[in-house]
Amino acid sequence: MADLQIPEDFCHNDVEPKGKTSHSDGENFHYIWGDGRTDGAAFSNDDVKAAYEERGEEQVPLGIHGTSVAVDWDSCVAAGSCMSVCPVQTFQWYRTEQDVPAADVLGATFEGTGLTEQDERLDYTDKSQPIREHDCTVCMACQEICPEGAIRIESANQEWHEKAAGTYVIMKSGSENPHAHD
Ligand code: SF4
Repeated sequence: MADLQIPEDFCHNDVEPKGKTSHSDGENFHYIWGDGRTDGAAFSNDDVKAAYEERGEEQVPLGIHGTSVAVDWDSCVAAGSCMSVCPVQTFQWYRTEQDVPAADVLGATFEGTGLTEQDERLDYTDKSQPIREHDCTVCMACQEICPEGAIRIESANQEWHEKAAGTYVIMKSGSENPHAHD
């Protein structure tokens, strides 16, 4: 397994998300954290650099997309390994739904209709978007297979997603688990 690029505490304590990307179901969304970095693998990958050049689009730092399923878009080189192993199609190629610069997904709403097979990226500027973060079964397969260590799976980070959203509920003994999904 490649070394994980996302620090364990990237969303903890007083860190505020930079923004979010919503799912059109009106219920789910995932946060985007940090200003990004230019020393991630995407900035030295020849395929990624060539694809940006071909588009005439500037490559800019993008940050971490998702909280319990966190993808460092500055390390994502569009290998698509995560898509090949995810049993619940958590990820989609964002550009196959909306072909916009990656910085523009901040605040955008996606329907989750993007392509989800490993080699269906639009081109190497595409990114693995955790549009169905809420469906993750924590199997860990994507974290283990990502060649760049761009993914960190941490189900306990759901707490920080909820705190940022203002929906966090402290569990009392004997009470129903408010974090449980149907
Ligand atoms: S941990 Fe498993 S279920 Fe969750 S996003 Fe990764 S591959 Fe999909």
